[in-house]
Amino acid sequence: MTLKKTNFGKIKYRGRFAPSPSGELHFGSLLAAMASYADARHFNGQWLLRIDDIDQARVVADSDQHILSTLEQCGFEWDESVSYQSQNLKHYKMALKELHQLTVTYLCSCSRKQIQAALENSHIKNGIYPGTCRHKTSQADHQQNRDHAIRLKVSADEVCFVDLIQGEYSQNLQQDIGDFIIYRKDQVFSYQLSVVIDDFQSQITHIVRGYDLLDSTPRQIYLQQLLGYPVAQYAHIPLAVTEENLKLSKLSQAKKVDCNLETLVQAARFLGQNTLDTKDFDNKSDFWQYLVTNWDINKVPRMEKQMIMV
Ligand SMILES: [Zn+2]
Repeated sequence: MTLKKTNFGKIKYRGRFAPSPSGELHFGSLLAAMASYADARHFNGQWLLRIDDIDQARVVADSDQHILSTLEQCGFEWDESVSYQSQNLKHYKMALKELHQLTVTYLCSCSRKQIQAALENSHIKNGIYPGTCRHKTSQADHQQNRDHAIRLKVSADEVCFVDLIQGEYSQNLQQDIGDFIIYRKDQVFSYQLSVVIDDFQSQITHIVRGYDLLDSTPRQIYLQQLLGYPVAQYAHIPLAVTEENLKLSKLSQAKKVDCNLETLVQAARFLGQNTLDTKDFDNKSDFWQYLVTNWDINKVPRMEKQMIMV
């Protein structure tokens, strides 16, 4: 698939940070916030905040407020008002309708067990949907079919892009991913679909985020192409892992970020930036000014993960 030329009109740079409100802001998410913020501000761009609360079952009450206040204490300053995925449902519905009209969607009633059984009798890679329901119906009307998921037909073309940190990346969606779910059986729009629409709605030009989302990017670019959206510029920073190789998340009991200068300097160093010592900064705004001025995305390590002491 050849990429359409990015066309955002007169918009120069609009970046964003989009945490899910499923707990406190930990060091891993601070890194994504810092990298996206510093890159945007370095290029005099705007930086927006979005709360990715599409999966309401995972939302922890008030954690959005905790995240916002932690970001504020850290010294982040965002443009415009904070947006919430849960308030954008009508746009997701419209996009789903557009995809139906392109006849690239179909209903899928397969259970995990059925998919596993179908894979055992085939040469398809494990974890890839074998396409069982692909030919059942060409149109997927979720209003009338509430016990089905909706899948998107993927093409056999290679999706390629150049990541600002990780370099060239490509995926053959048919071989590597398979037809993927855009609307779940439990009536929730998928992460892949919602994020593409949100970024388009907010006219986001640059997406800087964690390495764990690198392999989602070709699916998102494929959706952008289908919907006729401009393709954003992506950059994926290494994940912070503990000594035991655990990702910093609630699962590895990552602590809530302590918003002091030391933590900020530690995060900037993790991102490969040559910052001064904590003692060389008078305060946090002094630190931010230094980081934004001297930010260089080329210095961010081209790695999947990097160990951090917490
Ligand atoms: Zn199916």
